[in-house]
Amino acid sequence: MKTPIWFQYPRFEWQNRQAVIIGGGLAGSQMCWHLRQAGWQVTLLERHAGLASEASGNPAGVISPKMTAKASPGEDFYRNSFHYTQTILKKLERQGTKIRYNLCGVLQLTHNERELKRWHELKARHLGEDFIQLLDEKQSSQVAGIELPFKSSYFPEGGWINPADYANALCPEGREETAGAQAGCKIIKQTQIISLQKNGKQWQLVDSAHNLIAQAEVVIIANGKDLHGFAQSAFLPGVPVAGQTTFAEASDYSKHLKTVIGHEGYLTPALHSDCSQQPVHIFGATFERDCSAPQIKAESDRQNYDSLQNYLPEFAHSLGQRSSAHVAVRMTTPDRFPYVGALPHKAFYEENYHDLHQGKKWKKYPQAKYQQGLFVLGGLGSRGVISSAYCAKALCELLENKAASENTQKVLNNCHPARFIIRKLIRKQ
Ligand SMILES: Cc1cc2nc3c(=O)[nH]c(=O)nc-3n(C[C@H](O)[C@H](O)[C@H](O)COP(=O)(O)OP(=O)(O)OC[C@H]3O[C@@H](n4cnc5c(N)ncnc54)[C@H](O)[C@@H]3O)c2cc1C
Repeated sequence: MKTPIWFQYPRFEWQNRQAVIIGGGLAGSQMCWHLRQAGWQVTLLERHAGLASEASGNPAGVISPKMTAKASPGEDFYRNSFHYTQTILKKLERQGTKIRYNLCGVLQLTHNERELKRWHELKARHLGEDFIQLLDEKQSSQVAGIELPFKSSYFPEGGWINPADYANALCPEGREETAGAQAGCKIIKQTQIISLQKNGKQWQLVDSAHNLIAQAEVVIIANGKDLHGFAQSAFLPGVPVAGQTTFAEASDYSKHLKTVIGHEGYLTPALHSDCSQQPVHIFGATFERDCSAPQIKAESDRQNYDSLQNYLPEFAHSLGQRSSAHVAVRMTTPDRFPYVGALPHKAFYEENYHDLHQGKKWKKYPQAKYQQGLFVLGGLGSRGVISSAYCAKALCELLENKAASENTQKVLNNCHPARFIIRKLIRKQ
């Protein structure tokens, strides 16, 4: 696969291997971990008192791939992300970190015609039983531990994770002083960056009181829903979508559930959470376009419950007291791929590739130009729990000028921050 010139990157020459990351959610934490492993000195900036306080603060996220009926770049991306997440979790476990997670399997129900059609097509593809098993109603019920009147796609290696534990395990406090190959990570919390200014080769990061908080040649914007908060990234198309999850106390019946269930939303098996002495199930999440100031809403909990009741009425009726779990905004992109890579120089693209719609195959276009030293890992949408690690790996390899493997190259192309500028030019919009 040849990468078109507008998606190619130059070889980066860094004066030193120091980077600043804006945002301490899963994207920022993964980036911090990957760079640290590669020997970089990293400063992570977060506006809240703790990491994973926004989208990554959901008490349980599902670890599951996203399958399409036929093989597709999206399926490939999420499947690789799914496998890579497991590699990282095993590494973190070996390092002795504490993360609440359980790879108890995920059953995706065929709860509508489209899912049923997909189930038949996936069955015909023989994708390997370790990865996916296409179960009938009886088998689904046996695996789940409760009665399920649906066929399902079963991912035995899937499960759930507490994303805040995950982020904290990736960026533990007190690593600042470590030297050498395990070069340090400095975490600065309760600091909101409001602007990025270029001074020679350095980017200067300034807070709302106009204090210079940090400077570095390499800055990675991993600011979740605030992707448009900096002039340098404001052009990236993105739609913020709020989501709320709900807790309910487990019942004697519901405690039999052994796996995560996916329907319209998701449902975890009973688990221990900070919110309750009793084991609870977490379910949801809603998708709400009105998210200027996301707030916990009783209506959103009702929606989550109604959806559960629609597909699993006996289970839903058995549940104990309900309460709101978490609300936050995920930043989605028009094609559901995240943004991973260097931020393009938009005016250069528009000037130099303006005639792409004419399809001049013979024309020699100039090398792409980027905002030097500025990178983005964002737009992770509703799948960032599984895709953040894989994206961070690809971005780290890019920064390190590592010859990209075919898989990494696909991530860099599919998730290129200039892709919508190029699509517009090709369509002459
Ligand atoms: C309800 C809900 C359920 C979800 N369920 C799943 C799931 O089951 N499986 C799955 O794979 N994914 C799931 N997701 C998606 C996943 O949680 C997100 O994609 C992921 O957490 C995004 O991580 P992030 O780091 O990009 O964003 P965030 O976690 O929002 O992190 C961005 C951070 O940047 C900080 N920040 C922003 N601007 C600044 C600034 N100027 N200065 C300093 N700090 C700043 C913020 O405070 C924040 O901490 C869910 C999301 C939600 C909301």
